[in-house]
Amino acid sequence: MVTVSTRRTSVRIAVQGIVQGVGFRPFVYRLAQQMELGGSIANNGEGVRIHITGAPERVDRFIERLRNEAPPIARIVSLDVTEAMHVEKEHFVILPSSSSTRPKAQIPPDISVCGDCLQEMMDPADRRYHYPFINCTNCGPRFSIIRSIPYDRDSTSMAVFPMCEACSREYHDPLNRRFHAQPNACPACGPSLSWHDPTGLPLPGNDPVAQAARALAAGRVVAIKGLGGFHLAVDACSDQAVARLRQRKHRKGKPLAVMFRDMATVRLHCQVSPLEEQILCSPEHPIVLLERKDPGLLAADLADGLAVLGVMLPYTPLHYLLLHHGDAPTALVMTSGNLSNEPICTDNDEALTRLGGIADYFLLHNRDILTRVDDSLVRVMAGKPRLLRRGRGYAPVPLLLQHPCADIFASGAEMKNSFCLVRSGEAYISQHIGEMTSPQCLDFYTESIAHLSRVLATKITAAACDMHPDYLASRHAEDLHVPLHRIQHHHAHAAAVMAEHGLEGPVLAVILDGSGYGGDHTVFGGECYLVDRRTYTRLGHLRHLSLPGGDQAVREPWRMGLALFQAGAEETPLPLPSSLESIAQERLTVVRQMIAAGVNTPLTSSCGRLFDAVAALLGICLYADYEGQAAMQVEALATGARCATLATEQTGYPVRLVQENDLLQIDTAPLAALLLSDTRHHSPGLAALRFHNWLIDAVAALLLEVDPEVHYGVVLGGGCMQNRILLEGLISQIEAQGRIVHAGEMIPANDGGIALGQAYIGGYRPCA
Ligand code: ZN
Ligand code: ZN
Ligand code: FE
Repeated sequence: MVTVSTRRTSVRIAVQGIVQGVGFRPFVYRLAQQMELGGSIANNGEGVRIHITGAPERVDRFIERLRNEAPPIARIVSLDVTEAMHVEKEHFVILPSSSSTRPKAQIPPDISVCGDCLQEMMDPADRRYHYPFINCTNCGPRFSIIRSIPYDRDSTSMAVFPMCEACSREYHDPLNRRFHAQPNACPACGPSLSWHDPTGLPLPGNDPVAQAARALAAGRVVAIKGLGGFHLAVDACSDQAVARLRQRKHRKGKPLAVMFRDMATVRLHCQVSPLEEQILCSPEHPIVLLERKDPGLLAADLADGLAVLGVMLPYTPLHYLLLHHGDAPTALVMTSGNLSNEPICTDNDEALTRLGGIADYFLLHNRDILTRVDDSLVRVMAGKPRLLRRGRGYAPVPLLLQHPCADIFASGAEMKNSFCLVRSGEAYISQHIGEMTSPQCLDFYTESIAHLSRVLATKITAAACDMHPDYLASRHAEDLHVPLHRIQHHHAHAAAVMAEHGLEGPVLAVILDGSGYGGDHTVFGGECYLVDRRTYTRLGHLRHLSLPGGDQAVREPWRMGLALFQAGAEETPLPLPSSLESIAQERLTVVRQMIAAGVNTPLTSSCGRLFDAVAALLGICLYADYEGQAAMQVEALATGARCATLATEQTGYPVRLVQENDLLQIDTAPLAALLLSDTRHHSPGLAALRFHNWLIDAVAALLLEVDPEVHYGVVLGGGCMQNRILLEGLISQIEAQGRIVHAGEMIPANDGGIALGQAYIGGYRPCA
């Protein structure tokens, strides 16, 4: 609490949080001027330090306004007021930064171009007319250009662009919107665009934006250097252009995100709620998953078989200029500029080498990207925005832990990796790193750890990792040679939700996930635990299914379809479903034998694999082109059916819980017959919908069985919680039992949130 005695006339205020690089000093300067207070302000490693002198009641008012009127991107975490030894001068001054102390200041994220800058950029009389690198203290690049803190121009990739006189004047004028805006630049002194062929040769012409606009309109693939990395762009309305991009990128079915010119164009193609619109237009400008309207003018193959499309608005001045150019398409596919499973390219030469075989042209600039950050992905579910991928705009804003946790490094999971560094109760979750399968991703991972630890000036003294013996991320944690905590995958999923919502447990955790190591010979992934920060007790799970061929079954959902079918056929003989008829007879026979004999066929309680099985039996996905495809398609099918079906027909299948080895299990054996019968007599859509409702009912029944007194609250986690029908159904059913339910919001429910959970548990355990 801030208490200021009325006798004091001079105070010191230490402000911590995101207060550097967000226009905080000019804000304080203007406030002090306006209130006729004397003193000073300086950035330091801790945040900012303010000295203020004046009439006592005015000083009080100043502190109040400091809290309430801070700039939009600033986040005040703590504000400590102490009596000052000496009285400051009459006027207020801004002092140079000091970096003598250990940096504790937070790093601001990259922020989309603001309205004021856009207005200037589109004003022919402005000196930055059509300048694609316009920015101010309220907007522009931050995390992606910062080398170290304190955050000053010299410690960013703007250091190589000395400011011209006009820019310098703005930069030093406390009343200017660009006062101490570190990336401040103009056409005379700042970065510039260039237009190249795939060999890197600069092409003639003096308007790269117009050239790019025309190339895109002509169906070409253009690599565009953005804020946190390269995008590959094509006209989103051209079937041929999209096909060309897919073929060259070897990206067969995976959904592609689309950048629309403006909100009106978004509304033309998608359903947008007021909350979704608010997120699309927020300073973070993430990709938002929106329900599509009729295919309309967009290319057919953007998100095949899915009801949702990843949508974003232009977030850099360059994007804005490009999409508002008269010759440009009004919607562009903007997919990460990378090869499959490799991280997004950031460097011009690297991009030319790696993307030279994909892009017809390169729209480059000469401002270096020091840290790669992918676009963030948000979906609104159960009335709240929920991050599915945490990147640009959100990383590296820390989560403030409400319950203490020792400083620790957590290495994260193998897919959708991100890592976590906890420093003084602040959990820094890295930007999305990706799949730890390619050497490039591993390099990105180790570089990012080094960069974030350097910027935060932390020395890693303890670590946490997954229990899985083969995770490459865990190898990194082992190599640190510090005390290491191995955390069970689904315990970490649960703990991530607990950390975000300030829970210590015990709490019931329902984790519906792809797969995780459980410590025995089975693959975990449809779990009900009782958890706290120390331990977990497994209370129940989805009944085991065969996983014929192990990892191969993940890529070939038809194998799971056969496994679910076989499980059902043990009870009631069924004819082989027609959906599996396209699979060669010999392969079916071999896999049937594998299942029967348990050869190369572990057992799994995975919910993701159950979705695969359902997708196969419904005949919508026998082979998966990308992770999560089958589950997303089952959801899309159910979403379609929900609108077309009477509410009374949507009831779930009967739920059966069985007890085995002291554990309650949700029986999946009767599913195959029910799904196939609905498919035959009604539609696969109805079957998909009733399957969702069955799963929701089954989890609710399981919770009542393990905790009939309704003693515990519930946390929901795991990759399947990205499914809107499932998450919303679970929340409403479990809340109806009288429980408090939490799920991830700022932290992804998928493996992108694992690192936070690992840190939350590992940082709580005493070191061995
Ligand atoms: Zn701005
Ligand atoms: Zn300039
Ligand atoms: Fe997981």
